[in-house]
Amino acid sequence: METISMQIRSAITKRSMGALTELPQHRPSSGTSMIFGHLPAGYITSKLLFKKFATRTSFYKAFMFWGMFGAIAPDIDLFYYYLIDVYKNSHHTYFTHFPLFWLILLLISMVWLRLGDNHSQNPAFAFIFAINGLIHMLLDTFTGNIFWLAPFLNTPFSLVSLDLEYNSWELNYFTHWAFVLELFIIWWAVFLRFKKS
Ligand SMILES: [Zn+2]
Repeated sequence: METISMQIRSAITKRSMGALTELPQHRPSSGTSMIFGHLPAGYITSKLLFKKFATRTSFYKAFMFWGMFGAIAPDIDLFYYYLIDVYKNSHHTYFTHFPLFWLILLLISMVWLRLGDNHSQNPAFAFIFAINGLIHMLLDTFTGNIFWLAPFLNTPFSLVSLDLEYNSWELNYFTHWAFVLELFIIWWAVFLRFKKS
């Protein structure tokens, strides 16, 4: 009994904390990831930045691959979440969802771009991979919690209120305004793909 009342109390506290709450467990992956927007977002960023690196790499497909891979790479931690951690902690508490991790990768790639061989395309691949990983953190902040100051501060940040209206995560997800943002990202990617240049 003690445990149940404690659980209820903690749930109430979490709810009243509004935007800074952790989602209940019944949403998959603690429901804190953007689902459809990451890959098209990676496409958009890579497509828009490709020209900047045209002198380094004429290998468009490889550049796009590394960019789009970076956009979904943080969510590879879901394997750890499902198979090893077995739903214990939100995968957003892993270092793969720490913005600092992606910021460090980005800085390393920028140093590499500056100091490395001017004609090497590898630093360009590293850069587009890392910047899309960082954008992933920003996009996840629209659908859930990201610990922006981790590992220094264990405080989750979210741009949305995570108060759930419905009992099904699908309904909550698809009726949330953040889903409109995802639709916009998808539309933008499709637009860029078929735009006549
Ligand atoms: Zn994510």
